[in-house]
Amino acid sequence: MDNKYDVLILGGGPSGLSTALHLVQIAPHLAPRILILEKAHYPRLKLCAGGLVTDAEVILERLGLDVSEVPHVDVETAHFDFAGKGLKVRIPNRHAIRVIRRNEFDAWLAQKAREAGVEIREGITVKKIIPDKDSVTVETDHENFRAQIIVGADGSNGVTRRCIMPNAPLQTARVLEIITPTKQNSIAPHINKDAYFDFFPVPDNIAGYTWDFPTQVNREPMRCWGIYDTNVLADNARPALKDPLAKEMARHGYDINDYEIKGHPIRWYSPQNQVSVPRVLLVGDAAGADPIFGEGISIALGYGAIAAREIAESFQRGEFSFRRYKRRLARSGLGQTLYARWIITNIIYPIKWKWFQILLWRIMQPVVLFVAWIFILNWSKRLK
Ligand SMILES: Cc1cc2nc3c(=O)[nH]c(=O)nc-3n(C[C@H](O)[C@H](O)[C@H](O)COP(=O)(O)OP(=O)(O)OC[C@H]3O[C@@H](n4cnc5c(N)ncnc54)[C@H](O)[C@@H]3O)c2cc1C
Repeated sequence: MDNKYDVLILGGGPSGLSTALHLVQIAPHLAPRILILEKAHYPRLKLCAGGLVTDAEVILERLGLDVSEVPHVDVETAHFDFAGKGLKVRIPNRHAIRVIRRNEFDAWLAQKAREAGVEIREGITVKKIIPDKDSVTVETDHENFRAQIIVGADGSNGVTRRCIMPNAPLQTARVLEIITPTKQNSIAPHINKDAYFDFFPVPDNIAGYTWDFPTQVNREPMRCWGIYDTNVLADNARPALKDPLAKEMARHGYDINDYEIKGHPIRWYSPQNQVSVPRVLLVGDAAGADPIFGEGISIALGYGAIAAREIAESFQRGEFSFRRYKRRLARSGLGQTLYARWIITNIIYPIKWKWFQILLWRIMQPVVLFVAWIFILNWSKRLK
């Protein structure tokens, strides 16, 4: 016999857990009627550099959560460079970015959801979603489940989106990541806690950047390196994605061939993205992350806040079309920043010439900072 719930959340990453935590906060009576299905077991690996921007911390604070409980490294200065030179960003009296490891962060957030009364079943892989007029059936590698509504929080490769909108256009970025030890020697005696984004690959049609973050693994200082390519210049000839990352690492004395390289796509936001069908809505990467940087943790947490409000109201009305979800998203601070980031992506990457990238990151710094402050940061205050 099917297991019946009101709300089934497919995927226990930041978007699914945030949806559950916000639902419990605004509609506590729903807590025993929510189930999260997660295919892995916490603490599970998730390829991610783990950079949390201030908006992520603001959303967590509003849930009463203190992310400093999770092992982290605080970045004082974030550098946005072209070929090693550019803009430095510091936030007065606080860190610019907080770097966590996703195995630790997601396990912590799952524990908080459980403490709030949410049931999470680990080790269950969702195979198929079948919505009908009165409920949704979810087939898994274990038993089947039925629910009034489904939240697709299963990430960029998620099965939910593929089942409910199989022909929807898909914009995804390519991303590679490498973890290395920190080089601490007589030339660099202090552990470098700055984070670097370098846009030098853009003129070669890689519409993105390389990154170099401080991080920790089992409390040992490490560096996390990577390269992000939105794919907006994919119609042009490009070097192998690994090549610019190898060049950047070599500039700092690392040989890329000494380390394991891992890759994962990121589905990014575009205004055309469909985010719901009756009884099913999408959150996080399944709906679309930030296209400029592939920044998706704060965005996933933000989707959870908006989706929870939509779900709570739909239960009050007894109506589950989710017709208004896309408009609700668009009007929120999250929708506004995603739309602005999509426009910025379509300017800063297609104008790929070296002179423009130098102008942007080295010369127009006050303009870039102003645009970032208004359109990229501080959106979490407007989530209602
Ligand atoms: C290399 C890389 C570096 C990144 N660096 C950053 C960064 O520094 N800062 C930042 O903000 N963002 C970063 N991101 C993006 C960020 O990781 C994502 O945007 C974020 O994880 C999205 O959260 P989510 O909950 O939507 O999806 P996910 O975190 O992908 O969670 C989805 C969950 O669903 C589960 N799942 C999937 N399929 C099924 C299934 N069939 N059945 C059951 N469960 C399922 C998965 O196991 C997983 O737990 C990076 C991404 C990559 C690839």
